[in-house]
Amino acid sequence: MQSTPRTFRIKSFGCQMNVYDGERISELLTDTGLAAVADGEDADLVVLNTCHIREKAAEKAYSDVGRLKREDGSRPMIALAGCVAQAEGAEAKRRSPMIDIVVGPQAYHRLPKMVAQATRGDRPVDTDMPAISKFDALPARRRAAPSAFLTVQEGCDKFCTYCVVPYTRGAEISRPRADIVAEARALADAGAKEIVLLGQNVNAWEHEGHDLADLIREIARIDGLERIRYTTSHPADMSDPLIAAHGEVEKLMPYLHLPVQSGSNRILKAMNRSHTTETYLRTIEKMRAARPDVAISGDFIVGFPGETEEDFEATLRIVDAVGYAAAYSFKYSARPGTPAAIMEDQVAPDIMDDRLQRLQARIARTQLAFNRSTAGRETQVLIERRGRRPGQMIGRSPWLQSVHLQTGSEPGAMLDVTLTSAGPNSMTGALRQKDAA
Ligand code: SAM
Ligand code: SF4
Repeated sequence: MQSTPRTFRIKSFGCQMNVYDGERISELLTDTGLAAVADGEDADLVVLNTCHIREKAAEKAYSDVGRLKREDGSRPMIALAGCVAQAEGAEAKRRSPMIDIVVGPQAYHRLPKMVAQATRGDRPVDTDMPAISKFDALPARRRAAPSAFLTVQEGCDKFCTYCVVPYTRGAEISRPRADIVAEARALADAGAKEIVLLGQNVNAWEHEGHDLADLIREIARIDGLERIRYTTSHPADMSDPLIAAHGEVEKLMPYLHLPVQSGSNRILKAMNRSHTTETYLRTIEKMRAARPDVAISGDFIVGFPGETEEDFEATLRIVDAVGYAAAYSFKYSARPGTPAAIMEDQVAPDIMDDRLQRLQARIARTQLAFNRSTAGRETQVLIERRGRRPGQMIGRSPWLQSVHLQTGSEPGAMLDVTLTSAGPNSMTGALRQKDAA
């Protein structure tokens, strides 16, 4: 038996979709009368919103659970949420007696009911993936950061051979257009200046004959909203209308996150990626024709089973060919239950380490070159948060660079700025005359 929780804390790991889910869980719990406490503070209920994408995710989650024990031996009520909860299910309760609630990513709208059950001494598990969307059961949006996430699509039907997402998040589902537009309006009314449309394969979004390009055009009509972004896109779903929208919709930012994973066609085939390096580069070329200043980012995996030095060098070459403005790179992590986990020729850890370092050095080079190419530009920066120095604020350029500048403006301000100098990971900016403080 546990006493009824009055306060809660949510810890989200992994992708932006988990951050979005964390925000929605927070709104849901707040609506049922619980109060959020700051990170690190003691709470009656702790929700661990976990990620399962890479190695030892489950072990990490269990050790995070263990750390929640207080010095006096007591503990908060603990809900294991997210993709580890989905993958482990009832097993989680067996492995850790401290876990009171196990709730998957498609079932968290039922969390308040599960909290009540846990208060009565039950240990509920809900990892259903119901056809009825959880979104219908969630409260309306009332709070928003200057840049707000909005999930439009969930799940994946692509089954890349290394990836757990199709198993933990289920089949691809697109949210209805009207619901998304209503949520975008609510976010704009709550102060969001930018909306980032999210999906595991966001560019596969479709509803009643409308595609993501149509959705973006509709959201762009919302007053008060100044910027639109979307992530993550799959190269195979990068349609011509979506590319054209980048040249036509002013609010759509010149930025595209398009994971390639490898520069070797042999490896791409073994990964079951439905693109080749040639089709990928052709898409980038079309994007640049539609929007010449577009910043490209990507994801890479090094050390996929069977990857040779030659394959890896092809990956280094594609980094230069694209000239990435940013990119995430990961060591391949064998995920139980995925086809790649039982492939022969698993790559040794020291080789993976070496390749990751070399890849990251190459990406750092193209990133710095991109940043330098934007130095001197006059642009707009959306202020997101305070910097470490007095009077310093940090915002984002249209190309998603972090921009540091001195200003008296608060988060949410959209300022005219000159990008004065480029660093490896950020830019420095100065206010143009009309906004100068
Ligand atoms: N749907 C997106 C796509 O197709 O590129 C990616 C979504 S996935 C959640 C985010 C990134 O995690 C992937 O692009 C990939 O680079 C990385 N990733 C996924 N599974 C992985 C694994 N088993 N080992 C290492 N990295 C992995
Ligand atoms: Fe995972 Fe591939 Fe689906 Fe992306 S497209 S979520 S990498 S299976």
